[in-house]
Amino acid sequence: MKHTKVIEKPQDLIEYRKKYSSIGFVPTMGALHAGHASLMKKASSENELTIASVFVNPTQFNNATDLEKYPKTFEADLKTCGENGVDVLFFPQFSDIYPDNYRFKLSENEFSKLLCGAHRPGHFDGVLTVVLKLLQITGCHRAYFGMKDYQQYKLISDMAKALFLPTEIIGLPTVREASGLAMSSRNMRLSAEGKDKAKLIYATITQKTSPDKAREILTANGFVVDYLEDIADRRYVAATLEGIRLIDNVEI
Ligand code: AMP
Repeated sequence: MKHTKVIEKPQDLIEYRKKYSSIGFVPTMGALHAGHASLMKKASSENELTIASVFVNPTQFNNATDLEKYPKTFEADLKTCGENGVDVLFFPQFSDIYPDNYRFKLSENEFSKLLCGAHRPGHFDGVLTVVLKLLQITGCHRAYFGMKDYQQYKLISDMAKALFLPTEIIGLPTVREASGLAMSSRNMRLSAEGKDKAKLIYATITQKTSPDKAREILTANGFVVDYLEDIADRRYVAATLEGIRLIDNVEI
């Protein structure tokens, strides 16, 4: 178990990380679980300094209730960081990250308009902008993302190439419950019954059926399906259960 140092101010982190020649970074919104832990373990195995961040980024939420209800578990998160080799936990406030009050933003105009982007207007502008800021602050050589959010991973990876960022963007496999349910901080808000039902998402998208048929199965089981689509070699789904929006994707 490592002692994880908590840093709140960007300037303090910029100063602290200067002496390190290999830095790995894992950005998160907290309520950490085994999916986040897998990214942290990988980062700490490949870098001299491992930084994680917990920041629930308001600019990527288009629904005020979703933002407000996002689980906050700081003490447990700090422990998870220590157990998984994180040296520094960056824990900023909105004004620390947005001294410009979101006057500047980064947009992508193709892939970000599909799937989650079509259903959550402005979501990926918020994601790309905050990630760019965090990569700058952490000065990381490698940044680790989960393929659970494949669209996000792909957009960030493309952004790094487009902007000649010096950071290597690394995507790691989705960590699942034994039931197949993709681990997510949002699962904490499901009832026991809901969590049991939510395993149908993975069970359904891994069946050899058409997207329409898969959507029908989920709808018949009480999910409100935002999208269920095949793009290139992947099947993507977003579905709401008990008012909680869950996403997943698999290679097809
Ligand atoms: P979040 O805290 O949900 O914003 O996620 C932070 C990072 O953890 C993102 O790169 C996610 O893709 C990744 N992540 C979330 N859930 C999982 C999971 N079940 N397996 C692997 N990575 C995950």
